[in-house]
Amino acid sequence: MTYEFLDGDIIITDNKEQVLKNLKKMINIRLLTVLEFKEAYFGKVGVEALYYLIKKNNYKYNIAKMYLDNYLFIPELKAELEKENLITYEPLFKEKIKRIVILTPYIDDYLLDEIKKYPWCQISLDLGKNTPEVSEYPTIEDEVKNVALKIADLLKTIDINKIYLVLPNEYKILVKRIFTIFNIPLNLEIANHLYSLTLVQEFLKKIKTEHNLESALEIIKSSAVYNQIITIINKYQLLPLDDTTIYLIEEDLKLLKKDSRKLKNAVNVCQINEINENGYYFILGFNEGIVPPIVKDEDYFSDKEKENLGLMTSLTINNLNKLIIKEKISKYNVFLSYNLKSGKTDNYPSSLINEMNLPLIKEHNNIYNYSNLDNKLTLGKKLDNFLKFNEYDQELEILYHNYPDIPYLTYDNTYHQINPDVFLKYVPNLVLAYTSLDNYYRCGFRYYLNYILKVNKYEETFMTLIGNLFHAILANPEIDLDVSYHNFLENKVFNAKEKFFLTKLKDEVQFAKEVIKKQKTRGVLDKALYEEKINIPLTDNITFTGIIDKVMYHEENEKTYFAIIDYKTGNVASSLDNLIYGIEMQLPIYLYLSDYLHLKNPVIIGFYLQKILHPKPNYQKDKTYQEEKEKLYRLSGFSTTNEDALTYLDKDYQNSTVVKSLKKSAKGFYNYAKVLSEDNFNQIKDIVKNKITESAMAIKSAKFPINPKKIGTDLKGCEFCPFKDICYRREEDIINFEEKSYKDFLGGDVNA
Ligand code: SF4
Repeated sequence: MTYEFLDGDIIITDNKEQVLKNLKKMINIRLLTVLEFKEAYFGKVGVEALYYLIKKNNYKYNIAKMYLDNYLFIPELKAELEKENLITYEPLFKEKIKRIVILTPYIDDYLLDEIKKYPWCQISLDLGKNTPEVSEYPTIEDEVKNVALKIADLLKTIDINKIYLVLPNEYKILVKRIFTIFNIPLNLEIANHLYSLTLVQEFLKKIKTEHNLESALEIIKSSAVYNQIITIINKYQLLPLDDTTIYLIEEDLKLLKKDSRKLKNAVNVCQINEINENGYYFILGFNEGIVPPIVKDEDYFSDKEKENLGLMTSLTINNLNKLIIKEKISKYNVFLSYNLKSGKTDNYPSSLINEMNLPLIKEHNNIYNYSNLDNKLTLGKKLDNFLKFNEYDQELEILYHNYPDIPYLTYDNTYHQINPDVFLKYVPNLVLAYTSLDNYYRCGFRYYLNYILKVNKYEETFMTLIGNLFHAILANPEIDLDVSYHNFLENKVFNAKEKFFLTKLKDEVQFAKEVIKKQKTRGVLDKALYEEKINIPLTDNITFTGIIDKVMYHEENEKTYFAIIDYKTGNVASSLDNLIYGIEMQLPIYLYLSDYLHLKNPVIIGFYLQKILHPKPNYQKDKTYQEEKEKLYRLSGFSTTNEDALTYLDKDYQNSTVVKSLKKSAKGFYNYAKVLSEDNFNQIKDIVKNKITESAMAIKSAKFPINPKKIGTDLKGCEFCPFKDICYRREEDIINFEEKSYKDFLGGDVNA
C-alpha cells in the first residue's frame, strides 16, 4: 500500500511501522495513533491525574482509568482536572496543522468533525479479489498440527521471517508445543507477567513497608527485570512515593510482561491489522465469535449515549472489524483454518466464509515427513484406538512398521537430573528454611515441585490468617489487644461466619496472653526477643534463614540463660526421633540459629513449642475450668538437665506447671521428662549443621529424586504431600529407614 504524503502532514495510523516502511523519500511528517492525536489536540491527562483521582476518591485503578479515558465527555471531571492543572496541552499543535491524513477507519465522529476544520483526507479500505481456501479440521490439535506441516513445507522456498501466525490466546500453549515437536523456531510469548515473580513480590513488600526505592530495588538481581521496573518507576518519578504511587506501580507491574529473548530467524506472531503484502499469514481459529471479534455494548457510555456524543458504537466497531478482515483476506497471502472442537467445546465456522464465498477444504492428507516425534505420538494414539475401539487403518500398519519400538504402555516417572550449571543459571539464588529443608528430606521431588517449580501456589486461608494473627499479637505483648487486633485485621475482608469467629477468638488471644504472662512469673526470664530473623550465608548463592518466634532470656553473672519458644495454632509434635533423617527439625534448627543471636555466654534452658489455640478442655472432677485450660498452654519440648538453669524458667521445675512432663524426684528426672545434657544440645546443633550443608549441596547439584522416606511403617515423606497426582510414585521409589528414638543417636546422659 503506498500513499502520497506531503511535507508537514500529520498521519493518524494504527501501524506506524508499516507507514515508515512504505515511505519512498525523506519527508517531514508526524505519525500519531488516534489516542496520541486526541491527546495532542484536546490535551493529555497523565499519571498525575490518575494519582489525583485514586487518592482523592479512593478509586480502584481501573475505575480511575475509565473516568480519565472519557473525561472529555464528563464536564464536571474535565473542569476539575483543568482547575487542578492536570491536563497538559501541546503548545501550537492546532496552529501548526497543515493537513491531516487518516489511515485508520477507527475514527469517532466527534473527532472527524474537528479534523474537518483543517485540510484532510482519509484513505478508504478497498477490497481485493482473492478468495483463499479455508481448511476445516475436526479438532484444534489437528488444525495446529496441519498448520505446522504447511509451514514446514513452505519453509522449503520461503524465508522463515516472512511467515506469521495470527491466533487467539487460547491457541498459544498448544501452538508452542506442536511447533517444538516439528522443530519450527517460533517467537511466541506465553503470558509471563513480571508480577508473578517472587523477587517482584518481595520488591513490592519491601517498598510497601519501607517506602524506600533504593533498598527495595536491591532485591532485584536480574538486570532485565530491574530495567523494566525502573521504566515503570520513572513514569511516576514526579509523584511522592506514598501508598497511592506504590499502588500505581503495582498495577503497572500486573500488566507488564517479562521481556523474553526473540529468535533472529523464526515464525512470528502478529495481529490481523498488521497483515500486509510482505508476508505469509496463517490465520488460525477462523471460527464464529473469534474472527471477526465481537465487541459488546458494555462500555462506560452505552451505544445510545455514544451516538449522541459522536463516539463509535459497538455496532460500528464490529462492522469495521469485519471490513478490515475482509480487506486483509482478499488482498494478501493468507491461509485460513478453523476447527470443530476444542476440548469439550463445539465450534462453528466463521460467517465470513459464506459472506465472502470462500472455498472450503475438508479432506486432508496425513503427512509423515517432518517429525519422527509426531509420528510416534500419532502411532500411540492409533494404537489406543485400535486396542480400545478396534479401529484399524492402513496408516497404523505403516507407522508400526517404521516405529516398532516406541515405549507404548510404559511410563517412566523418574526425575532426570538437570545439568547443575543450567539449574544455577535459572535459580541463581536459593533461600533455604526449616519448611523447605523438611520437604527436601521427606522427598527430593516434593521439594523440587514446591520450591523450584513452585507448583503449589501459596494462598492465605482463614486458618493461616488466624495463625498469623496470633503470632502478630503475641510478638507485641505490650500493645493493647484491641489496637493490635484492629491493626492486623484492617483492610481485610471477611464473611459473616468469619467475623463471628474472629470476635470469639479475641477472648482466646486474651486468655493466651494472660497465661503466658502468668507463666513468666514462675521464673526470672525478664527479657525477650520476638520474631527474630536470622540469615546465614551457606555459599555465594545459598542462604539459610529462619525466624524464631520468641527467645526469653535473663542476663546474670556474665551469662545469658535463654529458652526458645515457637507458637503453634495447629497440632503440636515436638519429637526429636526423626532428627537424624532431617525430618521435623524445627526446634533443633532454632537451637542452631540461636548461636547467631549474639547472646553473651548463652546457657540453654530448653526449646519448646507452645500451642496457643485449643478446643475446650475436658471436664475433670475436682478441677476448675480455668486450671484445666491453663494446663493446655504448657510448653512442650526439651529442657536442660542443668537444674540451676531450669530455675530461671520455672523455680518449681521439679514438678513444673510451665513445661509439660517436666518432673523430678529424689532419684532424678522422671523417665518421661524430656531432658537433655549440654553435650546433647551441642550434638543436636552439629546434626542440624550437617543436614543443612548436606541438603544445600544436593540442591545445588539439582538432585531431586522421587525418594519419599518411610520410617518404620510410617510413610513420612508423602505425609500431606499435594503432589501424589504428579509424581506417580512407585513402591521402589520409597526409601526405608529404621524407626529410631532420639536416645539412640544422642546417647550420653539423655534423661540423666
Ligand atoms: S507424593 Fe510422595 S513421592 Fe510424590 S512427590 Fe510427594 S512426597 Fe514425593
